Amino acid sequence: MGGTLQHQNLAHWPRWINHSARAASLFLTLTSCNNLTSDLVAPNAHLPPCVEQNCDCGDFVSQDLAQLVLDDFQGDPHNLDGDQNGRACERLPQSTPELDWETYFSNNPHLALGNPSHAGQENIDNYLIDREQYVLAYSQSRGVLRWASWVLSRDWVGDTDRQNNFRPDGILPRGTYQVTPGDYTNSGYDRGHMVPSADRTASKQDNSATFLMTNIFPQTAENNRGPWREFENYCRDLIYQQDKTLYIIGGVYGQKLPIGKDKVIPPSRIWKVVVIFDQSPTVEDVSYSTQMVALDMPNSDRLDEKWQSYQTSIDRIELATGYDLLSEVDETIQAELESRHSNAP
Ligand code: MN
Ligand code: MN
Repeated sequence: MGGTLQHQNLAHWPRWINHSARAASLFLTLTSCNNLTSDLVAPNAHLPPCVEQNCDCGDFVSQDLAQLVLDDFQGDPHNLDGDQNGRACERLPQSTPELDWETYFSNNPHLALGNPSHAGQENIDNYLIDREQYVLAYSQSRGVLRWASWVLSRDWVGDTDRQNNFRPDGILPRGTYQVTPGDYTNSGYDRGHMVPSADRTASKQDNSATFLMTNIFPQTAENNRGPWREFENYCRDLIYQQDKTLYIIGGVYGQKLPIGKDKVIPPSRIWKVVVIFDQSPTVEDVSYSTQMVALDMPNSDRLDEKWQSYQTSIDRIELATGYDLLSEVDETIQAELESRHSNAP
């Protein structure tokens, strides 16, 4: 099982491979530590999360990743090799894209744990939007965000009504296409929020910021009104009932058939990582005992109602997306936390 990885061309793999290797060696030195062992040996821990449901070629960012899955299962149960030549999803880019080199400096608390895709102001496909209410990385060629991150605490919630003012985000550079609410009309998808409206209710201005179209992605109704919403409610319960502060990173990857005159590409997978704090999050507060939840689920119309069934590890989200999550966290702690399989009850 672990041997499959060694047959891949390692030169093409980005930094997460090193993370996984570190996590594996850490595992070997910690096997006597009861609370860590069971979660690290999940049978598919080295594969992208889609194998827990049913992968198709649209779920992968590279041929290398599809090949990893094809090689791991007898008889191609995910139908990745239609022409049966032993090569999976041959139309995908060969390898997971390297992260941009750009380093974007910001004191924004919504970016405190890192910039997962190294987004900045140079690449319009990895364009950082830095707001008081949240931070997100936008992809112009997809017409949707890559990821967003935001702090959720009692400071951010109040009694402001849902503003419902979906509108183009004027912040994108002049001359670039601005997605409009009309691009979703008759598409069959909901206008799904990444940063939820109900996470920003302290003021009209804060709530309105969540209705900018850069924070919206085509989401199936079954997902938006099902386990995804249940998990959003679970997160708010943590702040209302236990006075926690959350650092949330949510994102999308993969592709389905385009909508809105081909300007918007619906993602096939949606993920979220929530790091749970007792007070305002700082990287120094992240330790081996930090609690978190990691989910990766299909953007499909057939879903398990329980969000708990979509739990995974951060390592597997990094594998599937090519991003580096929690990059500001101490490397040893980061590697250990990322290798854990999320298992919130
Ligand atoms: Mn929603
Ligand atoms: Mn990481």
